[in-house]
Amino acid sequence: MDGAEQRLNETTWPHTAGHIAPDPRDTALLLIDLDALRANYRRLRDMAPGAETAAVVKADGYGLGAVPCARALAAEGARTFFVATLGEALDLRPALPEATIYVLDGLAPGAAEHFVAAQLRPVLGDLAEIEEWAGYCRATGYAGPAAIHLDTGFNRLGLDMTGVQALAARPEWLEAFDPALVMSHLACADTQGDPKTDVQATLFDEMRALLPPAPASLAASGGIQLGPRYHYDMTRAGVALYGGQALEGAPPMQPVVTLLARIATVREAGPGDTVGYGAAHTLTRPSRIAIVTAGYADGYIRLLGGSDAREGAHGFIGPHKVPVLGRVSMDLTAFDVTNVPGALARRGGWIELLGPRLTVDELAARAQTIGYEVLTSLGPRYTRHFIGG
Ligand SMILES: *Cc1c(COP(=O)(O)O)cnc(C)c1O
Repeated sequence: MDGAEQRLNETTWPHTAGHIAPDPRDTALLLIDLDALRANYRRLRDMAPGAETAAVVKADGYGLGAVPCARALAAEGARTFFVATLGEALDLRPALPEATIYVLDGLAPGAAEHFVAAQLRPVLGDLAEIEEWAGYCRATGYAGPAAIHLDTGFNRLGLDMTGVQALAARPEWLEAFDPALVMSHLACADTQGDPKTDVQATLFDEMRALLPPAPASLAASGGIQLGPRYHYDMTRAGVALYGGQALEGAPPMQPVVTLLARIATVREAGPGDTVGYGAAHTLTRPSRIAIVTAGYADGYIRLLGGSDAREGAHGFIGPHKVPVLGRVSMDLTAFDVTNVPGALARRGGWIELLGPRLTVDELAARAQTIGYEVLTSLGPRYTRHFIGG
């Protein structure tokens, strides 16, 4: 339908015009601006000029698509990538045959051969993992580059001080493989001046001093923005690449995602009528209601809904702000389009649920969560369109 593209253009950035030809099978469109992703990478790299900027593309590139995002980042100069799981690393490897890929969740028992076959590096987080990796490398003669994860107060993954001392007492383990990186992770890097951050950095230095010298990495997106004290030899940029705010009060990154949901139908209802499950929202005026084909199963979080007691989130149709009406359903959400010209708010049109005017963090705040969760909840039903790159 030839009006479809025109309606899309009216609701999105001018530079996407002509790039996106919606298909009748699309229920919603997730537009991913790879130029913005690359600009964010450059900005984070320039903040830590003495360090290598690695890119974290776990959870399918924070929900946006790990392979296209990683390719764009590699084109921008990223050489080292972090994912969470072995499966994610195996999916990424064919796209980036030359890159260094670390697996943050470490080495599951018996997994060493899978790492070696795809030239992947485990982030070794406890003594048993180190012993197994060292044993495998010794038995096979594989050089075994890997990271050693130190826990400086997070109590999640990594060796604590007792573990570091025990490791230092086992030089035969450290000689059996290549400890190519020593890393730790900050618990409170989302807040400027949190005393825990310095406690962790100091402990990181004390722990590193007990181990053979190796490149070090402490900062993720928040730590990069906290300053050079935390940059070491490599930073691990994640959410900020994708436009999320990692450090409270930091200037916003460039928005990377726009989400447009298709209007399935527009209906009319009047004062006293209620909308949706629980009859939670009662209309107070003659209203036009657009029903879009995205709901909480698509990451449009249920807490974004409204009720008589609480205003919900809103979206946009062109310049028009459209509030959510009632509860968000699994696959559908209702928006109040009473004030929007009929030519824009009609079957086959689009409502922008997320985008430069309504960022992942703003939407997250509405849903009492964080931008990370909004991004990683973006579901598989969306058609992902990559722009630029
Ligand atoms: C997820 C993760 C990162 C990236 O964190 P962001 O806050 O998204 O930048 C870096 N390091 C580790 C260990 C992680 O788990």
